[in-house]
Amino acid sequence: MASIYSRLKTQIAPAPAPRVEPQRTDGLRGAEAEEMCAAFESLNLGGFWSTDAEGRITYMSASLVGRLVHDEDATGTEFVGLFVRPRTGIDGQRTLPFVFARKGRFESVIARSEHEDREIVWSLSGEPINDAETGFAGFRGHIVDVTRDRQNAEEASQLATTDALTGLLNRRHMTNVLKRTFAAFAPQRRPCAVMLIDLDRFKQVNDTLGHAVGDALLKQVAQRLIKVVGDKERICRLGGDEFQVMLPDVEDRGRLGDLAGRIITMLSEPYTIEGNRCTIGTSIGIAVSPYDGETVDDLVRNADLALYSAKHSGRGRYRFYSNEMLESAEQRRHLEETMHDALIKGEFELYYQPLVDLSNNHVVGTEALIRWNHPESGLISPALFIPIAEESPMICRIGEWILRKACEDAVSWPGRARVAVNVSPVQFADPSFPKTVAMALTATGLDPDRLELELTESVFLQEGEATDDMFKALKNLGVRLVLDDFGTGYSSLAYLKTAPFDKIKIDQSFIRGATSNTNRNRAIITAIVALAQALGMDTIAEGVETFDQLNMVRDLKIGHVQGYIFSKPVKVEELFRNVAEDNWVLEPDGPAKQRHERRAMFRTIGVIHEDHYYPVTLRNLSISGALIEGLLEVPVGTMFMLDFGDGQFEMATVVRSRDSSQGLHFARELVSDGNGGLVTRHRFMAHHLMAAGVPRNTDEFLAQQAALLATGKISLPCFSMANRGAKRERAKG
Ligand code: C2E
Ligand code: MG
Ligand code: MG
Repeated sequence: MASIYSRLKTQIAPAPAPRVEPQRTDGLRGAEAEEMCAAFESLNLGGFWSTDAEGRITYMSASLVGRLVHDEDATGTEFVGLFVRPRTGIDGQRTLPFVFARKGRFESVIARSEHEDREIVWSLSGEPINDAETGFAGFRGHIVDVTRDRQNAEEASQLATTDALTGLLNRRHMTNVLKRTFAAFAPQRRPCAVMLIDLDRFKQVNDTLGHAVGDALLKQVAQRLIKVVGDKERICRLGGDEFQVMLPDVEDRGRLGDLAGRIITMLSEPYTIEGNRCTIGTSIGIAVSPYDGETVDDLVRNADLALYSAKHSGRGRYRFYSNEMLESAEQRRHLEETMHDALIKGEFELYYQPLVDLSNNHVVGTEALIRWNHPESGLISPALFIPIAEESPMICRIGEWILRKACEDAVSWPGRARVAVNVSPVQFADPSFPKTVAMALTATGLDPDRLELELTESVFLQEGEATDDMFKALKNLGVRLVLDDFGTGYSSLAYLKTAPFDKIKIDQSFIRGATSNTNRNRAIITAIVALAQALGMDTIAEGVETFDQLNMVRDLKIGHVQGYIFSKPVKVEELFRNVAEDNWVLEPDGPAKQRHERRAMFRTIGVIHEDHYYPVTLRNLSISGALIEGLLEVPVGTMFMLDFGDGQFEMATVVRSRDSSQGLHFARELVSDGNGGLVTRHRFMAHHLMAAGVPRNTDEFLAQQAALLATGKISLPCFSMANRGAKRERAKG
């Protein structure tokens, strides 16, 4: 392979006058530097690399062939893709995809690669290559193999069983304890629960108040954990802001939920550290063996999936592992793998939803909302794939496409309606974002005043100065800035005073809450609208579906509305279907009232009575009872076993019975799943059921029934199934 200098010169294409070695002012030093680089490369400790703006390799030291890449020529391969994907959804750590998205300098970022079954740990440092004309042109940096250092450090800590900072058990020791416990518990199938605890917003504390405060905070967290859990020997600090609690012989999800709830409350109380007051949140994932995994690895992975789900369903909550989480993790992985091609193949599509001025019902703008037309899965919601894109540099590429396409479409519309584009916090953190916006505007010729960028409050969680600069740069372009989803996040009115927003979008949850009987939301919205008016900002209400909501929005003097009452998001071709030139007016159309939030359910569950298994429809569910549909002629007082799936069984008594529906009362109350749902306290494994004579699944049951019927050991079902056929039979009879 050629020397790094010559390679860099030829390979960063197109490279007008590569400014790669500014220190190379005289021939001698240049040659000397070149020799030193070559010597470093030949040491096999690491090497140099560089990428283009898209993150594809443009140079890689020969010493890395065979260890990081297989081929001599890795040019064009995605650099980040060489490494094992870091665990997602957990904040507080700088990962390679993250620093790449930020396009800034980075130092000593740890990444792992796998080569011939051997894991190599790398430490990477890099800096952006900035081209005078085109701006960001890629990265270059060096990479060092630190596997050995890591091993040495680990060997040294092997002797230690505790975490040096907090005094809790360390990860290795906890894993050993778990393995021993599992081995001892397996024969009697004794349960063991694992909780994974992750602090929310710890990174912000660390970044804004410094590492010393961060460390002190972790110590206090450890003390509080010991207080709630009660036994120091059961708690471990996994590293960073992650903790693990092991609870042998606990499988009662009521107890586990209570404990998790207490941990969340306790850790969310404010902390005082060196005169600073700070608050953090906590998310918890819980898995219980043997139901959720029979090995330590499986159980911890599943607790981790539950934690991911807790973080993504709003943070500050706990979740129990359920099988769907594994399925959705697999789906996420699939989406992640196919996302890159989707952009190339043109599978993304923008839908537009009108924004209406309430004073005259004129459409003053639209919001662009992305959809993914997946060849196998159909139309995929952005709520599903945007968070995945945000964990890699993909979000910036997709974001760029959205901007360009939205501007292009808006230019072709009649009139001057604006177009609003959602901007991810990752894009907002990218210093080249204003340039991307400027390029979309110049390329399409859209008047900057017609482009609105929708930001959420999470952009304020970045460091202060960069945020201010970004706001200034965007305002200088002449585009309008909108604060989206107001009322869902941190909702500090202070942001409104400092950030240059032109509009506030009040979130649909707020609108929904305000039409119900509490006055609190109304009072808050009134205050927001007054403040916005005083600051010269527009207001818009999102997610208005019904006339009572529309009237309330009018009463509250919110100027604009976006919601199904005017239109759902539609394809661009449909947007102007019934529009007369220059007179884009929509009439509201929808239900009069918001239907009361009732958890209507249409899930199929099983009823086991004597020797029979009946599928029935669960119509509603509370902690103490349920309404089911699907059985006829069931006398009050009958006792059933209900099968909710996943090993969840509960005894129930029929307390009401009318035609094909029955009201049931449970023998034991259900417990919260931490996310507004309900689960049974206890679960049963197949071997419990077999011992009790209950078949594992419907198929097995039917086979067993057929066999028993054939031998005359059982009678025909004692209830008739309430399907149409059965009803017709009865009517005829
Ligand atoms: P958002 O920006 O708050 O968008 C509003 C969401 O509310 C849209 O969902 C819209 O279809 C929905 N909505 C509007 N009116 C009503 C209503 O009356 N009733 C109900 N039930 N829903 C209504 P959608 O399209 O599924 O998008 C979800 C979120 O995904 C967006 O929330 C936004 O955060 C994100 N997103 C969508 N498109 C993009 C994009 O192009 N880029 C980025 N970064 N994020 C996007
Ligand atoms: Mg939006
Ligand atoms: Mg919104």
